[in-house]
Amino acid sequence: MNKPYYHQVGKEVQVFEHSYKSKIPFLLKGPTGTGKSRFIEFMAHQLDKKLITISCHEETSSTDLIGRYIIKGAETIWLDGPLTTAVKEGAIIYLDEIAEARPDVIVAIHSLTDHRRELFIDKLGVTVKAHKDFMLVASFNPGYQRGFKELKPSTRQRFVATSFEYPEAKVETEILVNETSIDKDTAKKLVNIATKIRNLTELGLTETVSTRLLIDAAKLIHTGLPKRLAVHVAVVEPLTDDLDVISALKDLSDLMI
Ligand code: ADP
Repeated sequence: MNKPYYHQVGKEVQVFEHSYKSKIPFLLKGPTGTGKSRFIEFMAHQLDKKLITISCHEETSSTDLIGRYIIKGAETIWLDGPLTTAVKEGAIIYLDEIAEARPDVIVAIHSLTDHRRELFIDKLGVTVKAHKDFMLVASFNPGYQRGFKELKPSTRQRFVATSFEYPEAKVETEILVNETSIDKDTAKKLVNIATKIRNLTELGLTETVSTRLLIDAAKLIHTGLPKRLAVHVAVVEPLTDDLDVISALKDLSDLMI
């Protein structure tokens, strides 16, 4: 696999490398589309380790992660889940949006996030010691569904944590150019639009313009969609369903590109 492109924003690469040396669990905090998944793909590649990613949602349970019995013909056989596989093989497991998962997931990972580094498989009645290369990584979006899906302090304190935010304008422009081959001038304009909208806190948007949205707009422009239309459909429309806000943001962005 080719090396994933990742532009370092702070000191996250060094912090991760050191966390990996001691296999301290790592938490990536930040809004959607700020490069958390890309960062972890990059780090796994850099460290030459297998990466197993699980996108957690409300239904994700410990069984999904640890494994289950399945019926095959006349037999019942045990199938390791992705967490068990990672623990045995020494892979990096990435639990994306961990706060979304069911509480039993948090319980299941506890013994993996302290000195024990072991996984208890209750359905088999066995405890598996983690491979020396195994590392647990999770992401969490603190602003999303405020107060609802929080991570308990007792869980958070088991991780080294790094915040991901939108990169400064110069870096974000470079990311757009590298990722989509768009010209620098247009990339700058897209970043200016994003910065402007991000500062309009009075709009009360749940989530603001992410780097991901800008990448989408840049891709549409690169393949020939008119710039303003690209910004409308890739940046403005995904942000909100409020017609007045949509109209205001379209007017604003039209003036800037
Ligand atoms: P998250 O996991 O935080 O939701 P992603 O890692 O999927 O976000 O990032 C969304 C997209 O934004 C990526 O596919 C990539 O194109 C781009 N991106 C964001 N930040 C960076 C960065 N620092 N370096 C390279 N690409 C980035």
